[in-house]
Amino acid sequence: MFKKILIANRGEIALRIQRSCRELGIKAVMVYSEADREAKYIKLADESVCIGPAASAQSYLNMPAIISAAEVTDAEAIHPGYGFLSENADFAERVEKSGFKFIGPSPESIRLMGDKVSAKQAMLKAGVPCVPGSEGTLPDDPAINKRIAKQIGYPVIIKAAGGGGGRGMRVVHTEAALLHAVQTTKAEAGAAFGNPEVYMEKFLQNPRHIEIQIMADQYKNAVWLGERDCSMQRRHQKVIEEAPAPGIPRKQIEKIGERCVAAVKKIAYRGAGTFEFLYENGEFYFIEMNTRLQVEHPVTEWITGVDVVRTQIMVAAGEKLPFTQRMIEIKGHAIECRINAEDPYKFVPSPGRITTWHAPGGPGVRVDSHIYANYFVPPNYDSMIGKIIVHGDTREQALARMSTALSETVVEGINTNIALHRELMVDAKFMDGGTNIHYLEEWLSKRER
Ligand code: ADP
Repeated sequence: MFKKILIANRGEIALRIQRSCRELGIKAVMVYSEADREAKYIKLADESVCIGPAASAQSYLNMPAIISAAEVTDAEAIHPGYGFLSENADFAERVEKSGFKFIGPSPESIRLMGDKVSAKQAMLKAGVPCVPGSEGTLPDDPAINKRIAKQIGYPVIIKAAGGGGGRGMRVVHTEAALLHAVQTTKAEAGAAFGNPEVYMEKFLQNPRHIEIQIMADQYKNAVWLGERDCSMQRRHQKVIEEAPAPGIPRKQIEKIGERCVAAVKKIAYRGAGTFEFLYENGEFYFIEMNTRLQVEHPVTEWITGVDVVRTQIMVAAGEKLPFTQRMIEIKGHAIECRINAEDPYKFVPSPGRITTWHAPGGPGVRVDSHIYANYFVPPNYDSMIGKIIVHGDTREQALARMSTALSETVVEGINTNIALHRELMVDAKFMDGGTNIHYLEEWLSKRER
């Protein structure tokens, strides 16, 4: 096992990984930007290194600074968390070339899955059902593109092969709008992702977002750890996640889970990963794979009893998966609410100093957060300041526990979206389960203040 790991991230996930290191008797090195200097998890670390100014480009995305920090502290491995450099194949490669273990898949796997076109092709080969679409990237020929769209049938969606974070996508309803949409998405993709290639898919009108968590070791052992329903989204950003997904026949999910495991073995994938699917009219359609730890991993941890971060570290150290598929049993229901520093009505970010912080507790409540009273939420990063996760024997119990947990939570000094979550936990449709990816935005447009 490693003796020392460098955690190349910030906020709640940096603390989450640090906790796993402690449990495993591994020393944790934290890197931080000048804006995060005061954070408590930095002070809790065994060692810490300032890697640059507040701007991410000069700190959390600064590969040479992070690798030098690992060198000066004699760390053996680097955990990238999520976001920042976690899905950057070049970073993974530089980490390994510098003699450190990257806690994640191989650079080749990250590269294969980072290009959504090659990812889809690999999944089709492995027998994973995909959204009907163009066979590869779109050519420059307008006539061919019109023909492809006609074959798929409108509406279609033009997506950047190198896209991510809900950006680089455009829905097209008519042939008249097609060519312009292809050109603009290409130009945007080139500027934003350094790759102008785009592809086309059938635009599914009312799908749910269901994803499968997988975990694999380097000996081709792979297991799927149930699914998560992440359909409650605003602007393609997940707001609430839960597991299992309400109302989908177990047999059908098992079939998809098994397909994902087969695909993982086929591409010799190692570490944690997530297959994202859209689910519509009783069918699953693969859209992309995330080759990293996800924000919503705690709901999976709670229903399976598997510690995802601990297992990531173990398999990166060369150990075998400590469980087989037969040992994975789904128990109860878990829900996660992402707590953001933002206005609960207008969603403008609300950085600043937290004056009061009272965390919820009691049976079946978990809080993953790095905040505390007098913590200053810097304006430079994502607005998520933590997650409240609950578990219950049933979904009803989990919903009730979340309502109670949210009512106990006090954050003062900044605005948060806790009020929004409180309303959603008692919304009749959400309580029924199975809302689609547009439900939250439609609900928000009708919401009364
Ligand atoms: P990203 O990597 O940017 O998150 P995804 O491919 O995962 O991109 O898509 C993000 C979101 O965009 C999905 O969760 C879904 O809401 C929407 N989306 C993507 N592809 C389609 C599609 N073919 N039909 C309908 N919605 C889609």
